Amino acid sequence: MPTPFETAWLAACADCTNCGLATQRQRVVISRGNPAARVMVIGEAPGASEDEQGLPFVGRSGRVLDGLFTSAGLDPDTDLFITNVVKCRPPENRKPTAAELRACRPWIQKQIEVVDPPLVVLVGATAVKAMLGSKQAMGSLRGVWIEEDGRSWMPIFHPSYLLRNPSRDPGKPVSLTLEDLRQVRDRLCQCEPASGAPTS
Ligand code: SF4
Repeated sequence: MPTPFETAWLAACADCTNCGLATQRQRVVISRGNPAARVMVIGEAPGASEDEQGLPFVGRSGRVLDGLFTSAGLDPDTDLFITNVVKCRPPENRKPTAAELRACRPWIQKQIEVVDPPLVVLVGATAVKAMLGSKQAMGSLRGVWIEEDGRSWMPIFHPSYLLRNPSRDPGKPVSLTLEDLRQVRDRLCQCEPASGAPTS
């Protein structure tokens, strides 16, 4: 039986040419993880590794993010559905423009509609601004649940920021992000047990 993601809209997304990023991409990077997950993870845009492999968060940043989710007791393959607000790689890894974000918006809206996650992790300021319109600094946004559109949204630091600030000391960005992801695990566990969730 076909999954919801084996549908016409998915094929249309994979062939999308709705903005100029289509001309330089290798692949449209749509998602990885579990389409039935209760937690959706939304980042900014694909980088070089993602463009090459056609999967989101598979480069250095992705490995950092996967490691933190795993440490928090969430399995990236089964507990998460992972995607970006923009599906094609911006040249030189620049931030997506407002026009590119607008052009790509229907795809992330479709993904949210199909997956219908109660919990959403927003990775970095661009994802927060694109999805919720907030322009506040990540230092004040991260770690605080935002209730909107019937879902709970958790902003976290982008892993590229964590790579530039690798200290794992308490109070530093890596440690704070782990705390944020444990909040996500705990809220998920209020609905159902997450696979591999630690008992502490
Ligand atoms: S970035 Fe989005 S809107 Fe632009 S071509 Fe890729 S899928 Fe289409």
